[in-house]
Amino acid sequence: MANQTQQSPIVGKETSDDVEHFDAIVIGAGVTGLYALYRLRELGLSVMSLEHASGVGGTWFWSRYPGARFDSESYTYGYSFSEELLQEWDWKEHYSGQPENERYLNYVADKFDLRRDIRFNSHVTSAVYDEDRGVWTVNLEDGQPMTAQFFIPAVGSLSAGYIPDFEGIDSFKGDVCHTSRWPAKGMDLAGKRVGVIGTGASGVQLITEIAKVVGHLTVFQRTANYCAPLRNGSIDAETQKEIKASYPEIFRKCSETAGSFIHQFDPRSALEVSPEERLEQYETLWKESGFKKWLSNFHDVMLPGEANEDYAEFVRNKIRERVNDPVVAEMLVPKDHMFGSKRLPCESGYYEVYNQDNVLLVDVKNAPIERITPTGVKTSDKDYELDVVIFATGYDAVTGPLNLIHIEGEGGLTLKEKFAGGPKTYLGIATVGFPNMFTINAASVGNFVRSAEPLVEWVTETIRYVRDNGFTRIAATPEAEDEWTKHVNEDGAKILRSKADSWFVGANIPGKARALLNAPDPAPVMRAKRLEVAANGYTGFDLQ
Ligand code: NAP
Repeated sequence: MANQTQQSPIVGKETSDDVEHFDAIVIGAGVTGLYALYRLRELGLSVMSLEHASGVGGTWFWSRYPGARFDSESYTYGYSFSEELLQEWDWKEHYSGQPENERYLNYVADKFDLRRDIRFNSHVTSAVYDEDRGVWTVNLEDGQPMTAQFFIPAVGSLSAGYIPDFEGIDSFKGDVCHTSRWPAKGMDLAGKRVGVIGTGASGVQLITEIAKVVGHLTVFQRTANYCAPLRNGSIDAETQKEIKASYPEIFRKCSETAGSFIHQFDPRSALEVSPEERLEQYETLWKESGFKKWLSNFHDVMLPGEANEDYAEFVRNKIRERVNDPVVAEMLVPKDHMFGSKRLPCESGYYEVYNQDNVLLVDVKNAPIERITPTGVKTSDKDYELDVVIFATGYDAVTGPLNLIHIEGEGGLTLKEKFAGGPKTYLGIATVGFPNMFTINAASVGNFVRSAEPLVEWVTETIRYVRDNGFTRIAATPEAEDEWTKHVNEDGAKILRSKADSWFVGANIPGKARALLNAPDPAPVMRAKRLEVAANGYTGFDLQ
């Protein structure tokens, strides 16, 4: 494919008649991809960022559904690498909404002149490792192939939207949409008969907003969720000043917690205090905003066991208090999974929606959806006539976005084949047979930006190390991969996050192997582990 190559004006970038070569190719211009581009460019590397969308933002570009917003405090979600950026940007709300979040990421892209190295509307179809030349060839649906020494699919954890394989979807005569691909021009739902399938964090946010405008809303719920009040509000000028003055403290606090959120657990056990004191703490925290009621609670609320169940019952009663019809209330009360075993959806009036006369909650666990008909949804016991069907049915998480690209490593092995029984990685970042590839979408969990930033820094530092020390190839060793995968599977099975049938373990996708998709370790442990690996000359990696 490549014939005569010539040195381009950009250091390290080479071109040929039909193939451009870069030091690194990053896929995705979301939060992680943008930062990877920035850092790699700072190293003096030639970098190409390929983005499917027409703009930056990743999930904050695509998930434009009404109600989409942060569940982490806005000022904990921004990049920390630039003091100037921190001081320039005013977060307007404590839990910022999608339009503002997209504006923020555009501001970052402009401020750091990132767009000149991003090719938008670029749909990557495959990435194939050439063992002889030690380069990755990246192919696009439209456009010439490119090659790079390093390949960084920063494709996001939650970017491959999942629509169940219901028969008849194409026959539906009205409008259909998935929350992760909400049209930029919006959807006209005013006065219409709208059906929403799914009541995870996306469904909960969406339902609350659209219930204000639709003619009639039918919510198809398979599993009730624990949801807690977000208590959002705007940030006044005084608070804005305080936030800007305390960024080092904010980020320090986040860096010390398991999920990189700002909230610290109460070190006491819920069971070591009296029932009165316990309840008082639950009530006090319940009045607070965001995840505080979850992550500042007694520490054992987040461990499988008695304390967890005690708090779960408190939350169930909070739900019961808000729904007028006791039958509907019981349908909304989760009883089949532990509190906190799924990410807690934060809401702003969700339960009150079910007190509206024009809202119907349908249990599709007992009477499953059988098919989509030309006029609506058919469950095993009834037909529901609808003008619009919205899928809030979640994502094929972590491995899903990687599997949308044909990623082929050494010996023709594809990543999809390799991960068919669950991910096999070293530290979630590298996998045997795929040299010079860093899967940075697989290693972050919790507050995504806080955990992604140090990860990107580690990867770019690793690339610097490889190049500065005269190596051309870095790959995980089979021993390190086996040991890490065993740790994720064995220790991961013990934690709360792996107890429910959720995207955390791939259980939301029929046929997907059940395996914890992110590391089970707290973020500080992961950071320390990565730094130790680097400090010891990249133990568990083979450098050539
Ligand atoms: P999700 O949590 O996976 O929820 C998907 C929903 O669709 C569930 O209620 C699920 O029911 C339902 N569903 C799936 N297949 C179905 C079927 N065949 N029939 C009926 N119902 C079906 O997805 P999500 O709501 O998009 O959230 C995913 C993650 O994205 C969250 O955990 C969070 O990390 C992130 N997120 C964050 C925010 C935020 O506040 N910042 C907002 C949205 C999303 P079952 O529970 O029975 O499987």
